[in-house]
Amino acid sequence: MHETALVKNLIHRVETLCADENAERVVEVAVWLGALCHMSPEHFTDHFRQEAAGTCAEQAQLRIETSDDINHPQAQDVLLQSLELETEDEAGP
Ligand SMILES: [Zn+2]
Repeated sequence: MHETALVKNLIHRVETLCADENAERVVEVAVWLGALCHMSPEHFTDHFRQEAAGTCAEQAQLRIETSDDINHPQAQDVLLQSLELETEDEAGP
């Protein structure tokens, strides 16, 4: 459940940013996995795909950085590092 909550929070933030920027969809999401978040990149990807279905992030590419620093203040978290958004203006040829 912990994992699901982390991924849900992340996608909620992505959706908020998407709406703020009036973006059509998310092209790429870069995330940082803390050493104590207990998710491998593969496992995170599974959860992400599940939770992102039907959102603006459904087709997003994932760029995942993992940390092995257990003393990092956010070692238990999954952090959103950057987003690449596609807006209507940029979608043209
Ligand atoms: Zn899981």
